[in-house]
Amino acid sequence: MTEHAVVIAGGGPTGLMLAGELALAGVDVAIVERRPSQDLAGSRAGGLHSRTIEVLDQRGIADRFLSEGQAAQVAGFAGTPLDISDFPTRHPYGLGLWQNHIERILAGWVDELEVPIYREREVTGFAQDDTGVDVELSDGQSLRADYLVGCDGGRSLVRKAAGIEFPGWDPTTSSLIAEVEMGEEPEWGIRQEALGIHSLSRLEYEVRDGEVVYMDGGPIRVMVTEEHVGPTGEPTLRDLSEALIAVWGTNYGVHSPTWISRFTDMTRQAAAYRDRRVLLAGDAAHVHAPDGGQGLNTGVQDAVNLGWKLAQVVNRTSPESLLDTYHAERHPVAARVLRNTMAQVALRRPDERTKALRDTIAELLRMDEPRRRFAAMMSGLDIHYDLGEGHPLLGRRMPDLDLVTANGPLRVFTLLHDARPVLLNLGEPGDFDITPWAHRVLAIDAKYAGNWELPVLGQVAAPAAVLIRPDGYIAWVGDGTDTGLRDALTTWFGPPDAA
Ligand SMILES: Cc1cc2nc3c(=O)[nH]c(=O)nc-3n(C[C@H](O)[C@H](O)[C@H](O)COP(=O)(O)OP(=O)(O)OC[C@H]3O[C@@H](n4cnc5c(N)ncnc54)[C@H](O)[C@@H]3O)c2cc1C
Repeated sequence: MTEHAVVIAGGGPTGLMLAGELALAGVDVAIVERRPSQDLAGSRAGGLHSRTIEVLDQRGIADRFLSEGQAAQVAGFAGTPLDISDFPTRHPYGLGLWQNHIERILAGWVDELEVPIYREREVTGFAQDDTGVDVELSDGQSLRADYLVGCDGGRSLVRKAAGIEFPGWDPTTSSLIAEVEMGEEPEWGIRQEALGIHSLSRLEYEVRDGEVVYMDGGPIRVMVTEEHVGPTGEPTLRDLSEALIAVWGTNYGVHSPTWISRFTDMTRQAAAYRDRRVLLAGDAAHVHAPDGGQGLNTGVQDAVNLGWKLAQVVNRTSPESLLDTYHAERHPVAARVLRNTMAQVALRRPDERTKALRDTIAELLRMDEPRRRFAAMMSGLDIHYDLGEGHPLLGRRMPDLDLVTANGPLRVFTLLHDARPVLLNLGEPGDFDITPWAHRVLAIDAKYAGNWELPVLGQVAAPAAVLIRPDGYIAWVGDGTDTGLRDALTTWFGPPDAA
């Protein structure tokens, strides 16, 4: 039986990101993916938020995405745009880039890291015991792994087979989304009427002076709210045509669809992200309406939270209990996404009273403090893992500061390219002795003269040192002494090496 330390079911954005993270940590990881290639029939997600661009930057691959997409102010809440151009980040914007391109670029990175992908095969079941998991594939083969991670999307077989509950809320609205051609010039743009919100646009666009400018030709992207919630089968051209007629009174001679899909506002979250040797990430762990464009972003960031932890457990530098922090940290993040998408769906209901509420919320969000708070939430920049009381940096993202070192200038994110922990000493050089962790933690002496500014919180007191996890979150903040450092190193990066 072929063995891998970790098998990932599903090579969508989450599975690819996780595979990259594990491979960087030297873990023998393989992906099992149903699709024959990375090609995606439709475009699906529209892009990346600021924090996701940051996590890609932490690995040195953000430019691959930025060079292909359109940087723009993409954050918004219930239709109100939220500008983040004044936020303290190197990427105070989002990126318009369709999911098929995001997946292609991620797959290229994973390929460079030499992760094997078992394509055109599905995970059909598994059996776990005390030492590992036997993963059954649709071609009759079995793989043996220390851990299995279900990144297999909203209908996750791994989640179901593990018997993990998926509580939440049934859909209240249903929409068709498609890429088509039309015989007649349609009425472009967003339309809101009794059934809900609909839109007709070109797939290809550019952002010029902050405005989206659609190309003159090419495929048309249709989004149309359906009259009823209920149908669950594969939607057809006829369904699409009828939905168009119900809204615009014509189907504009719709033809040649390359993709027709249905999405709803079904909102559910896995009750547990782990059952012993089986874990869940991405849509397998949480589904919600696409409002706010958060699904792919949340999945990629799940992967970045889980990757280094799972690597340390597999490499036996940390106890299995480290994996409990994955659920503890990421479940609340997705729960908040579920809550804000439910609120946004409620706010886009077409009746006059809801419109009045939506306008009222929009008025609030134009005030500076609410704008900053909601923008930080929607862009993922305010994520705060509860690592206890202490300095405001504790549990928050490390800013990408321009440091000065004995060897010249250095960006913090450059230090994270290999997905290793970093102890950044900003005080007297050589202040800390971390010899028992020297193989695991990169210790750097540097100077930073600027302000420490965090999204929403503003300026915070400059720390004397910080311990940065591979996912870019701060695990310990030094006050000029090493109080608590050994505990933090042990908690996050395993017990000290024997002398
Ligand atoms: C209309 C629409 C618009 C959206 N817009 C945005 C947006 O703007 N921003 C955003 O962040 N998100 C958006 N999303 C959500 C986003 O598309 C998903 O959250 C994202 O694709 C989740 O990634 P994933 O890797 O977790 O799951 P998926 O992308 O579903 O990938 C799962 C993978 O697993 C494979 N698979 C499934 N079962 C098996 C099996 N048993 N064995 C092997 N392989 C299997 C599948 O083939 C697939 O490749 C949107 C979604 C929709 C529908």
